[in-house]
Parts: sequence; structure tokens; C-alpha cells
Amino acid sequence: MSSGTYDAVIIGAGIVGSACAAECAREGLKVAIVEAEMIGGGATAAGMGHLVVMDDSEAQFALTRYSQQLWDEIGDELPREVEHDACGTIWIAADDEEMAEARRKAKFYSDRGVPVEVLDAQSLAEAEPQLRPGLVGGLRVPGDSVIYPPCAARYFVDQARARGADVFLGVAVESIAADGIRLRDGTSISAGLIVNSAGSSSPKLTQGLEVKKRKGHLVITDRYPNFLRHQVVELGYLKSAHSLTADSVAFNIQPRKTGQLLIGSSRQYDVDESSVDVSILTRMLERAVEFLPGLRKLSSLRTWTGFRAATPDKLPLIGPHAEHERLYLATGHEGLGITTSLGTAKLLVAQIVNRDAAISVAPYLPARMTQETGHA
Ligand SMILES: Cc1cc2nc3c(=O)[nH]c(=O)nc-3n(C[C@H](O)[C@H](O)[C@H](O)COP(=O)(O)OP(=O)(O)OC[C@H]3O[C@@H](n4cnc5c(N)ncnc54)[C@H](O)[C@@H]3O)c2cc1C
Repeated sequence: MSSGTYDAVIIGAGIVGSACAAECAREGLKVAIVEAEMIGGGATAAGMGHLVVMDDSEAQFALTRYSQQLWDEIGDELPREVEHDACGTIWIAADDEEMAEARRKAKFYSDRGVPVEVLDAQSLAEAEPQLRPGLVGGLRVPGDSVIYPPCAARYFVDQARARGADVFLGVAVESIAADGIRLRDGTSISAGLIVNSAGSSSPKLTQGLEVKKRKGHLVITDRYPNFLRHQVVELGYLKSAHSLTADSVAFNIQPRKTGQLLIGSSRQYDVDESSVDVSILTRMLERAVEFLPGLRKLSSLRTWTGFRAATPDKLPLIGPHAEHERLYLATGHEGLGITTSLGTAKLLVAQIVNRDAAISVAPYLPARMTQETGHA
């Protein structure tokens, strides 16, 4: 393997690193991408690929919305294997409290220009006839969509390559140095700047990063075309995603273009073991069957797990490291890294070339963690 001098070396070819590499190369930087395993093989291969606008905070909304607009802009140019599907999301309200949440969410989104439709019980049943009777209603967000993330990562790497990037696959980074990276095989690559986009492994390369692994399980079924039309998520999912400690499961199911159904999801902290946890899996599937009783009769093909990279404030780290002059971070995207990869790449490059970005970069700056630690 040859080593050289680059403007930017990107560590990790998950969807975030790949998108950052494509954007850096588009900007005219000489880029190297260094990936220990395969393109789009980490959390990117494990994720659901739901491109979703979320409203946990204004900052989360801004980044998801901006990113979704960027996905829409490139929708027509994405290769067929990316399986971009404008299926929309339906958030399900199982009781009056959740219906109030659906209405709150509807107002939040419409106030900010996101088209939404509040569904009553009957229109929910018409939209998704497989849902159990007795649900109170829901919220349709027609602009949300779905992709197959590993192929999107490959597409971004191809774009970077076409603009002159070198890609080093099967090459693990041992450490980040002042002038580049040291590889596990003993060689080095020097670079003007280094981007740590190693997902849940990013803290191994940058000491002190407040990024924790958050394990998730998914199941994919055989092909059942037309069983479901939208990505369907219980509003209770938000409680699960918000919990900072407990293991949780929530009903979240996605129709794939192949006719398969992708069933999620679970969240667990402090678990390093990647094997399938049967008790969590059982809870997750029981929850899914509660909402979609017809699932019981379907066959599943495969079950797997993956690790989200979670920060304490549920926002990613995008921008310069507080102490290492040449180091930039693009990590900590938890359950939204597929969605926010494109926005991340734009915000990162805007900071590298010292240009204003389309949205404020402030909420995602890594420096906020150093500042917050003082108060924790
Ligand atoms: C179950 C589950 C469901 C999800 N669903 C969704 C969803 O529907 N929508 C959404 O937006 N997001 C979703 N996510 C989150 C999303 O998958 C992640 O946020 C996203 O994939 C993170 O991408 P990444 O590039 O940062 O990390 P990764 O995809 O993990 O990529 C990091 C890469 O770095 C490489 N690497 C690590 N260490 C080194 C090293 N030392 N040297 C070289 N390379 C290294 C790894 O091999 C890997 O390829 C989900 C996640 C999970 C687990």
C-alpha cells in the first residue's frame, strides 16, 4: 500500500465518512479514505435507512430537515440499488395522550414548512389496513423516505473516487498523529487534516470523546409485497429513543422495495457483545405483533445487531476537535446517521473551508462537550 500526502484523510467509510469524503473531494481537496473493513459495513449496514425528520430539539430538527432536503435533491441521481423509496412515515397514536403528541408534532412540523396530515382512527386504518383495530389515529409525514444505506455509502465513495480520492480498504488506523494517521501495519499517511468518522469506534481513536455504543436489533422478513405502504412507527418510539439508561424496544417497521419488511427496533447501553439477545428480540417482536397482528404468519429471514454512536445530548459531533488543530470529528449520530450524513458532510466542509453553512453549525460543535463537562 502506498502512503502519500493528502489534504484530508477520512477515517471510516460508513455513510458519514463516505458522504464527508465525497463532499471534501467535490470541494477540490485531495482525499484519502481509510476503512478497516468494508464500505458501509458498520452501523451503516445495520441501520434501517429511514430518512426521517425529527423534532426532539430545534437543532435535531434543523439537521434532519436540511439533510432530508439534500437527499431529495439527489433522489433522481441515486443508483437503483440504493432503493430510494418515498414511502413516507406514519407515527401511530395508541391512546389519547399519544394523539395529543401527534397533534403537537403536526403543529411543530407545519409551523416549519414540513407537510403533514393528522389521521383519525378511520383514515389510519385505510392508510394501513394491517394495523390492529382500536388505534386512536396518527400523523403522516409524506416527505420521509427510505434507502438501502450500504449502497448509498458505496455511491458516495465512488463519487469521491471519481474526483480523485484514494480509497484504502482493509486498512485499520492505529492512531491519529499531529500530521496524519498511523496505520496498524506500521505505515503512515500524512494529511493536512484528519476526519474521525469511525462511528461507534471513534472514541478509540480520539481520547475523551463522549460517544457511547448503543446496541440495536433488527429482523428482516421474506417478501410480502403490499403488506405495508409506509414506514410505521409508534409514538412510544420517542420514549424509547429518549431513554438514556434502560433497555427499550419500540414498534418501528419498514416496507422495503423488495417486498420485505424490516422490523425494529431496540436500544441498549453498556453492551459490547454483538450477538443477538433473544430476550430483547422477543420483546421487540411481541411489540411489533401487538400493532400488526398479521406479522405472526410471516417468516423472517435474518436477524442482526448494530451499534449506534450515542452522545449525551443526542446531537452529533461535527467540526474541529477542541485541542487537536488538524482533527475534525464527524461522529455521534446515534439513530439518525443515515438521514443526517449529507447535512453532516456539508457542515463539515463549510467549517474546513471557513464558509457559512446553510444552517447554524453551533449546536453540533464538539467544543460544546468540553464546555458542558465543566458543569456536569
Ligand atoms: C438498529 C439500527 C437502526 C438504525 N436505523 C436508522 C434509520 O432508520 N435512519 C437513520 O438515519 N439512522 C439509523 N441508524 C443509525 C445509523 O445507522 C448510524 O448513525 C450511521 O450508520 C452511522 O454511520 P457512520 O458512518 O458514522 O458509522 P459506521 O457506519 O459504523 O461507519 C464507521 C466505519 O469506520 C470504520 N472504522 C472503525 N474504526 C476504524 C479504524 N480504526 N480504522 C479504519 N476504519 C475504522 C468501521 O469499519 C466502519 O466502516 C440505525 C442504527 C442502528 C444500529
